[in-house]
Parts: sequence; C-alpha cells; structure tokens
Amino acid sequence: MGVLIFFDINGTIIKRDERTDIPYKKALNLLLNVQNSMDGVDTSARSDKDVFTEVLNKHGHSFSEQKWRTFVKLYNEQLELFKDTDVWRENVDAVKIISKLSATEHKLSLITGEFSMGAKYKLEKIGVWKHFPVGGFGEDGFKRFDIAEVALKRVKNLYNDTFDEIYIIGDTLLDIKTARHLGAKVISITTGSNTREELLAEKPDYIIDRFEEIEHLFI
Ligand SMILES: [Mg+2]
Repeated sequence: MGVLIFFDINGTIIKRDERTDIPYKKALNLLLNVQNSMDGVDTSARSDKDVFTEVLNKHGHSFSEQKWRTFVKLYNEQLELFKDTDVWRENVDAVKIISKLSATEHKLSLITGEFSMGAKYKLEKIGVWKHFPVGGFGEDGFKRFDIAEVALKRVKNLYNDTFDEIYIIGDTLLDIKTARHLGAKVISITTGSNTREELLAEKPDYIIDRFEEIEHLFI
C-alpha cells in the first residue's frame, strides 16, 4: 500500500543537452579508435546497451563480452574524469522535489536507459543518488519496457508492496508508453526531446514545465 514514483534521468532529473553524452562518446571513441563514434546516432529515449550495439555495428564490429568489459572500464574512467565538471546539471527544480518526496512515505525509483554506473555519477553530482535505493537501468534490457519491468520487480521485492498508485515522470513519448505498459499514471515534463504538442498528443495524465506544479499531488 502506498505510492511509487519512478523518475527518468536524462531530460527529467538531469538537464539534457549536447554535453550530456560526452563521457559515453569518449569511451566509445577510445574503444573503437575513432574520433566521432556516435555521429548520426540518436540516443534519445534509448538504452545505453542498445546504443552501444548500434555504434559497434556501424563501425563494422559485433557485440562481444570482451568488448563490453573493455568499454565498461573505459566508460568508468571517463565518468571519473568528468565528475567534477559541469557536464551534468540539475533539470529545472528536480533536486527540490526529490528532496521533498524523500521525506514523505512515498517510494522513489528510477527507470532509465542509462547504465547504472553513469546514473550513479550523474545523480551523485547533484546530490540525489541516495534517494533511489533501487531502479531499472540500461544494462537491464535493450528496450524500455524490459527495463521498466525489472525496475518494478525490484521495487516490489525491496518494499514487499504492490502499491496503490504508480507514477512515471519523464520527458519523452516513450515514458508515456512505458507508463501505460506498467498500468501507471504518467507525468510528462516539457524539458526534454519531445515538444509539449508531441507529448499532449499522447494524453499524459499531467503535463508540467517544472516539478513544483505536481507537489500538491504528493505532499
Ligand atoms: Mg529522458
């Protein structure tokens, strides 16, 4: 019994711009020994693993566990190098709402295409990683629905609860579809890769520009 709120990361908690993917891109450049490994690859609303496989294929490589392990090491090094820079910043008033919600009885979790190690660096940078004890991440599945199912299972196991209400907060059409898939309500935020018009066409339960607009639902 209770309320479960899933957050997306990029374009929702973390401000999304051309700099967000720099550490990931650099790791792939190093792995493939090229300059612009990700040119022409749209990462929006996709899992890191899905993107990783597409980039390998584009450069004439196939997926292998060895390449995967090498990449993980390179990516970790890049994340460490960038952790004190400003490539990751808070999206609108995300920190405030997460801090407020963490002081309620509601449970918070993540559904993201981002690998957990990238998620940890990004969210630690803005001080909110500690509020998400469990989530679904890029390594948990190629597609968002798979990641969402893993996340929900983990949350149910952790809290031994089935929840009266589940919400997903995200910036893309895929977050809306994922909410429908889980039978959750969806709060769309207009700060990411889909426009207000595009989001409205999919009829989200709520549409917001800033998180303070939904405070009254939970606090
Ligand atoms: Mg997003």
